[in-house]
Order: sequence, then C-alpha cells, then structure tokens
Amino acid sequence: MTTNSAGELHRQGRIEVVCGSMFSGKTEELIRRIKRATFARQRVIIFKPQIDNRYSEENVVSHDSNAVTSTPVSCATDILRILPSTGEADQRRYDIDVVGIDEAQFFGDDLVDVCNELADNNVRVIIAGLDMDFKGKPFGPMPGLCAIADDVMKVHAICVRCGALAYVSHRLVHDENQVLIGEKAEYEPLCRECYKKSKTQDL
Ligand code: ZN
Repeated sequence: MTTNSAGELHRQGRIEVVCGSMFSGKTEELIRRIKRATFARQRVIIFKPQIDNRYSEENVVSHDSNAVTSTPVSCATDILRILPSTGEADQRRYDIDVVGIDEAQFFGDDLVDVCNELADNNVRVIIAGLDMDFKGKPFGPMPGLCAIADDVMKVHAICVRCGALAYVSHRLVHDENQVLIGEKAEYEPLCRECYKKSKTQDL
C-alpha cells in the first residue's frame, strides 16, 4: 500500500475525477491513466453509460479514436454487480485494481455511493465526465463526485471564437433536453465571455 514517486497507488482506494467541457481531452486523460495502469500489469475495467453509443458499444473512444475496451451499463449499481469478486468481506471485496468510468455525467447520483464503495474496498476509481451541461449548470452526479474525490483535474478546450480557455459546451442546435448526444455539429466549446455573447444572440 505505498505511493511511488509518480503518485501511482498500488491497491489503495482512491477517487480521481477528470472533468471539463466537450473537446477538452477528458477521455484522452482517462485513457492515458488507464493505459499506464495496464502497463503496470494492474487489472483494469472501464464502464460507460449505455446511453452513449456515438461510436461503439464496447469501446471508450476519444475524439482522436484512441480506443480502449469498455463495458456499457444501464445504471451505476450495475458496476458493483458486474465486478469480479474476491469472495472476501473486508477491504478487498472486488478483484480489480482500477475502475475507469467514462461519460459519468449521464449516471444517476448513486454513482457517488458506488465510487465510495469501490474506494473503500481499495479500488482506484478514475472518472471522466462533463462538469456542466449546455446551460452551464452542474451535470448529474459530477458535483458530488468532485466533492468526494481525492483528486480533481479540470481540463479545458479552446474557445472556438476567441482562442481563450473554454469553460462550457455551447449547444448549436435548439433542443432543451439536458441529454443530447452530439459532436462537433451540435456543440462548440466557448469561454465565459463568448458564451455570454452567444446567449444574448440566441434570445
Ligand atoms: Zn471566447
């Protein structure tokens, strides 16, 4: 149960959140951490919500098609059901070293308890998700996950209008549903100033 100089933890519970707008490199950062754990021969599994099937049912795919295999689940508690068990009751209930969760914003608030349960059982949990929806409101379980996390990294896209750091995913199509699975045709990353301007234009 030690931390080496690179900050890697071996079989010690921990929750890491990588959050930001669309096109900020969240999934790339998740994949980077997962691959590094895989190189260290740690047992890794990645989950994503079933709702997100833009590219592939079984892969976590970033926008640059850097893919790793993942398991789609319909709700957060399915994660605990699917994980291999050690048969032991305390501390090491799950026979896995690292659990990755992509597109975490689409899960329910119960993902917070699921992540705590994993970390309490010595699993390293790495979560990637959108911090805000297209209206700039905190998205799903992300605020709760940031609160319980040992480490939070906020990554930024570049504002497509002015080149400053972006903070929100502005929706280019008129649809009021919070969940609209989309890509470059539907969303653009904007900084706070450009987002304010775009809102007055949208009215
Ligand atoms: Zn801007």
